[in-house]
Amino acid sequence: MDLLKQRVKEDGVVIDERILKVDGFLNHQIDAQLMHEIGNTFHEQFKNEGVTKVLTIEASGIAPAIMTALHFNVPCLFAKKAKPSTLTKDVYHADIHSFTKNNTSTVIVSDEFLSEDDRVLIIDDFLANGDASLGLNEIVQQAQATTVGIGIVVEKSFQQGRKRLEDSGLNVSSLCKVASLKGNNVTFVDETVSEEV
Ligand code: 5GP
Repeated sequence: MDLLKQRVKEDGVVIDERILKVDGFLNHQIDAQLMHEIGNTFHEQFKNEGVTKVLTIEASGIAPAIMTALHFNVPCLFAKKAKPSTLTKDVYHADIHSFTKNNTSTVIVSDEFLSEDDRVLIIDDFLANGDASLGLNEIVQQAQATTVGIGIVVEKSFQQGRKRLEDSGLNVSSLCKVASLKGNNVTFVDETVSEEV
């Protein structure tokens, strides 16, 4: 997605060789028009999959997920970071290690909102080592629902996420693939071949 790659190049800040900060349009201030276009692109990619629900994790997955849900005309559901008092028997839950915060937290989804009839598209802002998406897929499995795919806004292809998700049989689609973060330079996987994703 050229528009996205352009924004990553212009506004992305390389924190170190592993983390990219995109607070200008995705993780703090949100470019609604860009999110709308992202939702449209995911809809094009997964429109034949019978998606009934879009699932993400709070907070930074919500913006692309809700715009994707808008294009599918289905609900957007987000996993909440659980407090002990909210961890009841009526929730599906998974322990997810945060790549950026380097801690593990339990996330929950109420069993009211996910059932075995659901065909779920998982959306997240970044793919690093895959823990967030694998945790969300675990929640889908607990509900005996079906994950039809994983849509990622920015994939960091130098990390293990895609391999781990594909090894679990999941179909991964990302809108841009970062090959490396060096100095303050973002290099995309396909940069020297073509600008198309
Ligand atoms: P994973 O679970 O795939 O290791 O990491 C994905 C999650 O960590 C995403 O939900 C995202 O919030 C966060 N994350 C991973 N890498 C980055 C990054 O380079 N920049 C930002 N802003 N978030 C990241």
